[in-house]
Amino acid sequence: MDSFLRCLPKVELHVHIEGTMEPDLLFKLAKRNNITLPFKDINELKEIYANFNDLKSFLDVLEKECSVLITSEDFYDLAWAYFQRVAADNVRHCEVFVDIHAHINRGVSLKCQFDGLIRACQKATKEINMTTALLLSFLRDESEQSALDILDKALEYREYFIGIGLESNEINNPPSKFIRLYKKAHELGLHCVAHAGEEGSSSYIKEALDLLKVERIDHSIHCIDDPILLKQIAQSQIPLTMCPLSNLKLKVVKKIHDLPLKLFLENHIRVTINSDDPAYFDGYILANFYAIQEAFQLSIQDWVQLTQNAIYAAFISNERRQELLKELEDILKNHQ
Ligand SMILES: [Zn+2]
Repeated sequence: MDSFLRCLPKVELHVHIEGTMEPDLLFKLAKRNNITLPFKDINELKEIYANFNDLKSFLDVLEKECSVLITSEDFYDLAWAYFQRVAADNVRHCEVFVDIHAHINRGVSLKCQFDGLIRACQKATKEINMTTALLLSFLRDESEQSALDILDKALEYREYFIGIGLESNEINNPPSKFIRLYKKAHELGLHCVAHAGEEGSSSYIKEALDLLKVERIDHSIHCIDDPILLKQIAQSQIPLTMCPLSNLKLKVVKKIHDLPLKLFLENHIRVTINSDDPAYFDGYILANFYAIQEAFQLSIQDWVQLTQNAIYAAFISNERRQELLKELEDILKNHQ
């Protein structure tokens, strides 16, 4: 089964590029930019990573580490390292969140962010035959107006991104706070997704669907608390991006087996498996696949379903979708 999982053509729909910064790159960039980090070495970092209590404890560390991302070269190095790493796991398409709001707050220009990231995206297409896309991620603990102002400025780079997302501390920052932002994004023809129901209640998921009219929900674990909502998600075929190792590390669940994956599959919910912030949570997408397999002992058919779910949930052309479905079909033929 392990080799089958490795060979599956993978589509990653929930990964934050900042969350892919491995400790060696972190220290390299800190040195390059003359930044003194509040961590002595890799061992100290590993110790911190092993002891996250919740989403906030992780976000506090992430914020400190992001201080090393200053130049377009830094963003390029970060993204290119990520694409190369996951190419080895046969990731064939990925949609990457960029923490644009946080970087702007630190004084890093949009030009700098896009210049580096787009160069890496183009190289991924050319050299490793992987398609990529960027989603701009806004901080829900900041004001809606600040997000609107940044989106407005980002339009100068409109060709470089396909949509927007909403992240960071959920509690007391419900989706309803961002109705104008999402209305504007829809008017601009952007794809719309949002984190909801990771630490927030099912009402946050409902708001994301009904008020922000999102096309995918990131995490959405707490939708199981509302049977009517669960039915709405199944009927609408709104994809949910589950991130098992993230949920485990941030204590959303006590063990992987507590995730409602079987319930989602049984209810024909379009759930996908993703990595979130892999450098911090012990593994990239393939490691998440392995963790799920160990906990649930899924069948080949379940994995085909999960892979198809991700291919259908991706914001890609029909032509690209058919290519990925064909790759899946070929893998299945070879496996039989
Ligand atoms: Zn996330």
